[in-house]
Amino acid sequence: MQYFVKHTTLKNKLDLYRKNGKTIGFIPTMGALHDGHLKLVHASVYECDISVCSIFVNPTQFNDVSDLVKYPRNLPKDSALLKAAGLDILFAPTILEVYPNGMDIRVDIDLEGLDTILEGAFRPGHFKGVVQIVKRLLDMVQPDVLYMGQKDFQQFTIIRHMIKTLHLPVKLVVIPTEREPGGLAMSSRNERLSAEYRKKARVIFETLNTSKTRIEKDSLVTIKSDALKKISDAGLIPEYFEIVDGNTLQVIHDPSQHEYIVGLAAAWAGDVRLIDNLIFRGKN
Ligand code: AMP
Repeated sequence: MQYFVKHTTLKNKLDLYRKNGKTIGFIPTMGALHDGHLKLVHASVYECDISVCSIFVNPTQFNDVSDLVKYPRNLPKDSALLKAAGLDILFAPTILEVYPNGMDIRVDIDLEGLDTILEGAFRPGHFKGVVQIVKRLLDMVQPDVLYMGQKDFQQFTIIRHMIKTLHLPVKLVVIPTEREPGGLAMSSRNERLSAEYRKKARVIFETLNTSKTRIEKDSLVTIKSDALKKISDAGLIPEYFEIVDGNTLQVIHDPSQHEYIVGLAAAWAGDVRLIDNLIFRGKN
């Protein structure tokens, strides 16, 4: 596995591969890797000639400074996992390498409000930071295929919108969420959960599953209020539980009018904020 810090040397290397007709797969991450990330890496290694994974804890997408400070980091361990997964190139740039002119979350495209609802309502500026970093990394790597996780449903929806709006020549592949044995969605943030909260946090996925079975027969308002109650009764503090159209992310009122329906939830387990989602109808 090759390791790059500078995007110019990375680009020189990738240009050589491109000249030789190799396809390039790209997996952007913030490190503290788990099996969810590795599922994306495996898909790329299987489907593309050359796979590039980036590790960069992007400051501009953290609206809460303490979350940025507490974000787990372990480059040696991540590097060993990626090597074992058969990755070709690890790109771990410094902040200065990514933001030589300072950090600014202005983005040039209209996100059409996708960034201010759901997660965006609780994390102002977060998705502008995400769009900015993914665009920068795509410019540096210029992959044929971009791999993202369904775990961050709103994130890949916004990136899909960006790719379409800017006519970027990259295919987005979304990989289903990898879960721990009890159903909790794998996340780098799970490392910070106590054993007790790790168990309690299973309620998020359980609630999504129960809600999925109810959408054909029960009122969405009742399903939503029951879900919020179930999550708080389990000892978590829910931030939202919404049932939305999978394309527009707008809250739906009549399931019969939608072919693609997704349940999305966010809740605090102690001081760790968790998100999850489940496709209730249709698929990515
Ligand atoms: P992150 O390091 O959290 O920025 O995540 C990097 C990529 O891995 C994103 O595309 C995430 O959606 C994806 N990812 C994170 N957790 C999971 C998971 N449990 N299953 C599948 N993909 C995931």
